[in-house]
Amino acid sequence: MEKRSKEFLEVGFYLSKFGEINKNENYPSPPSRLKVDKWNNAYRIFYEKLNGGRTVLAFERSLKNARDAFDSHLPNSQRIGWLADNKKPNPLGKESQIVFDNLINKSEDQVWEIIEKYSDLKVKEYKQIFEDLIAIQENESEYKTGKTEGGKKIVTSSSYERNPSVRNDAIKIHGLKCSACGFNFQNFYGDWGKGFIEVHHIQPLSENKGKEIETNPKTDLEVLCANCHRMVHRKKGITLSLQELKEKINKSIS
Ligand SMILES: [Zn+2]
Ligand SMILES: [Zn+2]
Repeated sequence: MEKRSKEFLEVGFYLSKFGEINKNENYPSPPSRLKVDKWNNAYRIFYEKLNGGRTVLAFERSLKNARDAFDSHLPNSQRIGWLADNKKPNPLGKESQIVFDNLINKSEDQVWEIIEKYSDLKVKEYKQIFEDLIAIQENESEYKTGKTEGGKKIVTSSSYERNPSVRNDAIKIHGLKCSACGFNFQNFYGDWGKGFIEVHHIQPLSENKGKEIETNPKTDLEVLCANCHRMVHRKKGITLSLQELKEKINKSIS
């Protein structure tokens, strides 16, 4: 299982503690500050900052679990949460207990102040981008996060391509036509292909030595059709540049 960061657990606590009680239903709604109706969307608000290499669906499951684990420890929780066989709350993990103790006496405003920097409330604007991203991730097998021999996590460039707001910016800047071959999904597939393109991070992440750096959507990202994107990442450890890919396309045409 992915290690859950302190920030991740803080968000889990926030969602567990400050869900809105529904008088007519026995299940709480997401905190009203988040302005979403569905829990999935509440989780997605924190996806970009806290995904830690997880796919969207894995992230949602993991954050739901983190939230569940706090439920039975919170007196006003509308949900019972996880009880052990003896009907007592399951003890929290060490990290979760630290987060719990830090936050339990804080108000909603105070906890929000802590976690706000991990949030992106524009999540509704990215609805289609999330859907495309989930579909891509479900089919993605070659270029995902892996481990080195020492067990240290390598985040491949695809993790940058997971950022919904960065994707959104890339599409606004570079448009919806493949930078390598010119393919446009809507022209070919009609309405079904409208708005679809894949986003590729130009700089191989290994050169950044795993450091978190700001992605500049204008210079660091390209938009590619699904075919060209797979070709760029076809061989493990090699990422073709746009120029190299274009040269291959030209060769095969002539
Ligand atoms: Zn292409
Ligand atoms: Zn890529």
